[in-house]
Amino acid sequence: MSFNVFIGLEIHIELKTNSKMFCNCANDCFEAEPNTHTCPVCLGLPGALPVVNQKAIEEVILTGLALGCQIPLFSKFDRKNYFYPDLPKGYQISQFDLPLCQKGNFQEIKIRRVHLEEDTAKLFHETINNEKVSLIDFNRSGVPLMEIVTEPDLRSAVQAKEFLKKLQQLVRFLKVADADMEKGQMRCEPTVNLEIENNGRKFYTPLVEVKNINSFRFVEKAIEYEIKRQLEEFEKTGVEKQAGNKTTRGWDNKNQKTVLQREKEEASDYRYFPEPDLPPMRFTQEQIEIIKKSMPELPEEKTKKLMKDYHLTSQQVKDLIGDEQKMAYFEKALPVLIKEKIDFPQAVNLIINKRIDITKTEPEDLAQAIKSKDKTPQLPQEELEKMVKEVISNNPEIVAQFKKGKVTVIEVLVGQMMGKTKGQANAAQIRGMLREKMI
Ligand SMILES: [Zn+2]
Repeated sequence: MSFNVFIGLEIHIELKTNSKMFCNCANDCFEAEPNTHTCPVCLGLPGALPVVNQKAIEEVILTGLALGCQIPLFSKFDRKNYFYPDLPKGYQISQFDLPLCQKGNFQEIKIRRVHLEEDTAKLFHETINNEKVSLIDFNRSGVPLMEIVTEPDLRSAVQAKEFLKKLQQLVRFLKVADADMEKGQMRCEPTVNLEIENNGRKFYTPLVEVKNINSFRFVEKAIEYEIKRQLEEFEKTGVEKQAGNKTTRGWDNKNQKTVLQREKEEASDYRYFPEPDLPPMRFTQEQIEIIKKSMPELPEEKTKKLMKDYHLTSQQVKDLIGDEQKMAYFEKALPVLIKEKIDFPQAVNLIINKRIDITKTEPEDLAQAIKSKDKTPQLPQEELEKMVKEVISNNPEIVAQFKKGKVTVIEVLVGQMMGKTKGQANAAQIRGMLREKMI
């Protein structure tokens, strides 16, 4: 018996627009006093009419473009009907058959759709005066919520986790969301099932969706648990997947397992229909082009550029890209570093390892600090040349890799040179000498 794993992801990400999705309330409710960011629209009072937040639509389209999606020129909002206390209207404004974006590809995983909806209120289950009560905070109600749905192309828990991290990085780069999982700004629902091959016949286990996970680690654990559980369940019962059926489970972190929440959930249960209070949306190709032009440089391109142009290691790039403030500082310091001929990796080390306070140090001072440190005695040029030749002839494999275009391996040789010279050389100069000899 052998098996394959199929994992699809539904990811909800709160957009960080100034105002909420369908009203003027401020969209900055994290840690705000409960029910202070509300109005008749996001409280769902009878007769209150929604007005669309254009910025939120543009941000979803921008994200869709970055995910390689097609952007249809016609889209609409729909009502998803269900009853729950966090949804006073009795329906959520969402999108059903005509999402804003569809058919994309990101990290070699197919994206089925990206759509826009409103977030719900938040429930708190507490005990007050020995009485169990449920409290509702409507601050989150109506926050623009982007939903990204992948095809079941992921094959392991680790791959799913890495995909989510890349996606988080992407929306942060696009500046459409902070996507902080601890704050609930990014939530994930993996759908998992297995294809089991036994005696030449293929079987499929029932689809299971694990609801609302708010940590990368929990996503990984929940998927791993589901794979194990479904295998055991199938061996015991032999029950197979039925078309259209999906069971919902939740992740119980305390007991490290998923628990059954609801069986058999279908789209028809929600009785979707077009939202009568909002006109459908029509876009022109020109409008889409304008959004496309506002696209910043994406993480992948930026990584390549930083490694190639500034000789940073992949770890240095990872650290910089993961920290908006440090990245901004490096970019601000670049002209000075270039002018003063400062070694970029050396400067980045100081920035990453917090050996300078980037909130207080001007780039000029950073350059001076590095320069004065570089005033260690330098070996004579002829001696350096000799050592460079030695290092190159001792490392034919690294030289070959460099010539094939893997330029960052030069750092291995720079490291060897710094060791050989006992630090009595300038890394930038050495790098230049090595480069010259190898090209
Ligand atoms: Zn409101």
